[in-house]
Amino acid sequence: MGARRELKWALEGYWKGDISRAQLEAVGAELRQRHWADQADFDWVPVGDFSFYDHVLDMSVTLGCWPERARAMRGDDLDRSFCLARGQSAPGASAPIAAAEMTKWFNTNYHYIVPEFDAGTTFELNAARLEAQMAEARAQGIRAKPVIIGPITYLALGKACDGTDPLTLLPRLLPVYAELLQSLAAAGAQWVQVDEPLLVTELSAEWQHAYNVAYHALKSAPVKLLLTTYFGRLLDNAYLAANLPVAGLHIDAIEGRDDVAPLLGLMPPHKVLSLGVVDGRNVWKTDLQATLDWLEPLAQRLGSRLWLAPTCSLLHVPLDLTAERQLDPEVRAWLAFAVQKLDELRVLRQALRQGRTAVRPALEANAAAVQARRASGRLRHPQVQAALAALQAKGIAKRSPYAQRAARQAAALGLPLLPTTTIGSFPQTPEIRQVRRQFKAGLIDAATYRSGMQAEIARCVREQEALGLDVLVHGEPERSDMVEFFAERLEGFAVTEAGWVQSYGSRCVKPPILFGDVRRAQPMTVEWIAYAQSLTSKPVKGMLTGPVTLLNWSFVRDDQPRSVTCKQLALAIREEVLDLERAGVRVIQIDEPALREGLPLRRAQWPQALQWAVESFRVACSGVRDETQIHTHMCYSEFNDIIEAIAALDADVITLECARSRMELLEVFDRFAYPNAIGPGVYDIHSPNVPTVEQMVELLRQALRRLPLARLWVNPDCGLKTRHWPEVVAALRHMVAAAQQLRLEL
Ligand code: GLN
Ligand code: ZN
Repeated sequence: MGARRELKWALEGYWKGDISRAQLEAVGAELRQRHWADQADFDWVPVGDFSFYDHVLDMSVTLGCWPERARAMRGDDLDRSFCLARGQSAPGASAPIAAAEMTKWFNTNYHYIVPEFDAGTTFELNAARLEAQMAEARAQGIRAKPVIIGPITYLALGKACDGTDPLTLLPRLLPVYAELLQSLAAAGAQWVQVDEPLLVTELSAEWQHAYNVAYHALKSAPVKLLLTTYFGRLLDNAYLAANLPVAGLHIDAIEGRDDVAPLLGLMPPHKVLSLGVVDGRNVWKTDLQATLDWLEPLAQRLGSRLWLAPTCSLLHVPLDLTAERQLDPEVRAWLAFAVQKLDELRVLRQALRQGRTAVRPALEANAAAVQARRASGRLRHPQVQAALAALQAKGIAKRSPYAQRAARQAAALGLPLLPTTTIGSFPQTPEIRQVRRQFKAGLIDAATYRSGMQAEIARCVREQEALGLDVLVHGEPERSDMVEFFAERLEGFAVTEAGWVQSYGSRCVKPPILFGDVRRAQPMTVEWIAYAQSLTSKPVKGMLTGPVTLLNWSFVRDDQPRSVTCKQLALAIREEVLDLERAGVRVIQIDEPALREGLPLRRAQWPQALQWAVESFRVACSGVRDETQIHTHMCYSEFNDIIEAIAALDADVITLECARSRMELLEVFDRFAYPNAIGPGVYDIHSPNVPTVEQMVELLRQALRRLPLARLWVNPDCGLKTRHWPEVVAALRHMVAAAQQLRLEL
């Protein structure tokens, strides 16, 4: 996105019509140039991985895989892809069409645009973007290694709306890949990086076979292929990955360190082995000496067949640590962002080529930092350790059965059928951002800041009362981000100023850094929620981020199991839940949108991971009264395969993202006979379109085919912070009207 998120501002400016297409392109070119320059001394530099929106969508464009509704669109490829991704028109494109689905990229927090297939899908090469970037790189003297998504992973990432098995499309897809490799060769490529991270997941015999079919078909391509995997272990796919007819294999040698020994035995002797030895998913400095201890014998054995790289693309880490001026100096010394990770690679390269003495100062500095982190007194807090031990000894306090709680809550809250609510945030207006910025910069005092936020909360409560919503929220004006807000208030976390990573399109997040034991020193949200509640007789929902989401959306310590870190977070959130309850808050939402995405890529490891995730959530809401209604919220997830765990959370109400996938999602809740209340989103908040009353009534009718009336809630998909007030008011008015209409009918 650029050091100052240049790409974000350029994209949003272009979509608004404030800057021209040429200006947007210039920003893209400038970013590519800068990022290539950062790697100019490397033997091979990735090219074609730059994307204006999403690299999977780019691949769909390269393969000519447009959904039917997008075929008639005006505009060139870029404008059309913006249109498809955003469900609204770009300056050069035609009228809006339904936005494509987004989903998480493997177990990261990056969202890609899901390719759409059906039985009639055909492919047609469009190599213009890649060819242009190759030419650009060549002009800058860069040794370009184009990066593409491999055919099998591409098919697995897509979704067929008519039930077509994506593998049946492979014979149509492969000739286009063959052509693509030819045009990349013609554009000067010697190596092409073909990303196949699907290889770290469990593959059925059919998919394994497809790998053989595909790579044998591409064997005669006039370029060398570097088959690239990351994010996990090859395990039983090691034989397959080692023996596909390609020139080299890249693996994530941090997650997959134990794959290396077997691979050495399995790989034919001519193949390059590229080892990802610098973590592309986390921010800790690499222990360079330990890495060298491990690499040196491998380097001896493999010679020039050994390549070094980061584990994966550096998309998932912040760009540059030197941009941080306020970071706690002790913690800062433990960190490496993308630019620093490139330096680590350089040190490793030189040490392997010329011996460790050639880089002694760098190695010594690194060893000192690694050692300082290990020895730091900031990692453990006796109180947290004691609380964990007590939890271990006593177990989690059980809540009463749902039926009993539901009856008490119905009596306490007196809500109508089809209760209406929202997910938490309301528009983050320029005024809110300005007050927050001024406060951070020390330009206004705490009292002025507080009254500014209170004014926003009051507005938000007023608007919701006028709309006739049943369970209100305070609107989260004081939160720049649902994770960072808590990270700023909990001990054990550091936050960055500029550590942005892309979430989807122009949207970025700034994951906090969890480095030590997590402790809540004082209440974090009570004053805001209690203030909102003081303004209305309707229930105001207290709004918290759940332990699993805090964990998954942060860069977390690697010196203890994630399960332990998660329990610490849960204990801290629990204290807040109990304080909210004491302050008279009757409904509390604990958001867990990231419950699923942090799961291991291998399903065999899910039960264990889900167990501690569920336990953590239950710790967070243990000890509350039956009358207190616990909500949770999840978005952009497939729920099919974790429905049991979702039920085990035992939240009284779960609100879900649903509008883009047209209630399909509820089928599984129905099949599983999910016992508690559900609010399937009836309004897609990722688009500014205002749905009509009829559209929402229709969605609710569909939901009622799956769910009993008494347990159905009415709400948007997700928080409204990215929207504008006029569209929010219009959409919520329609939503409340839809609920009212159905209440009369039923
Ligand atoms: N309460 C949060 C909000 O409304 C939830 C956001 C999310 O699910 N990602 O903004
Ligand atoms: Zn959400």
